[in-house]
Amino acid sequence: MTHYAYVNNKIVNFKNAKVHVEDRGLQFADSVYEVIAVLNNNLIDLNFHLKRLKFSLKELQIKYKFTRSSLNKIFLKLIKKNKTSNGIIYLQVTRGVQYREHKYEKNLSPTLIIYTRDKKFNLPGNKFKGVNTITYEDLRWKRRDIKTVNLLPNIIAANMAKKKKAYEAILIQNGKVTEGTSSNIWIIKKNKLITHPANSNILKGVTRTSLLKIINKTSLKLVQQSFTYRELLNADEVFLTSSGSFITPILKIDKIKINKGKIGNITLKLAEMYSKSCMNG
Ligand code: PMP
Repeated sequence: MTHYAYVNNKIVNFKNAKVHVEDRGLQFADSVYEVIAVLNNNLIDLNFHLKRLKFSLKELQIKYKFTRSSLNKIFLKLIKKNKTSNGIIYLQVTRGVQYREHKYEKNLSPTLIIYTRDKKFNLPGNKFKGVNTITYEDLRWKRRDIKTVNLLPNIIAANMAKKKKAYEAILIQNGKVTEGTSSNIWIIKKNKLITHPANSNILKGVTRTSLLKIINKTSLKLVQQSFTYRELLNADEVFLTSSGSFITPILKIDKIKINKGKIGNITLKLAEMYSKSCMNG
């Protein structure tokens, strides 16, 4: 249970965890974030998350300096206090508080928010499940490589998915798949894995990075290139990756079954390899 949060140098009661009304995160989404999985008390892919956080902060010139050990200390404290053995750590850094004005002052103090939430993960085993998805137009800005809380287009698409009883919306730009609203998308065709290249059109997922490393150790062929809506529907297997969903098979897209609606062998194998690597820290 989430009883405690960390806000600006203090652990506070979750109910009293608040930011100022003129926080730029609230008024302008002038803010970046990370979501880190906690699996059996292990922080998954922490170094990749911190590297991406550093990148996002640098791109927006938010002057928040941190060390791995100082953040790790806060993470472990919150995991313990909230008893989050399995769940996620949410971390957000805003540019800080200032009178409302698009232009920002030089020396603002960034706002730091961290808390944990329990979550059950979809891991290979007897309850491993595949999901239903829809596609939706990618309405986002041109710097999707920065992990900002500017997520309205993702929210619109995700809620369309919810309305259609789907787990995720796959975003389409000019007939090509970019990524999911909160995940990266992969297809498999004739034993070849294809995923969108890590450029400014997508978020370079941490799970994606980790999985690429695993794939490198196998004999599977992989290409990082964009693919069309038609290729998506004609794929042998499709799956998504994210810190909250790990590797989750996609069994239906816009009501069309993939792999006859069954979890594919390669997807299952990769999910097993990834979850094993997480268990081993
Ligand atoms: N793309 C988007 C748009 C996301 O929000 C996420 C989730 N953070 C991902 C991809 C997957 O990234 P990760 O594996 O780091 O969770």
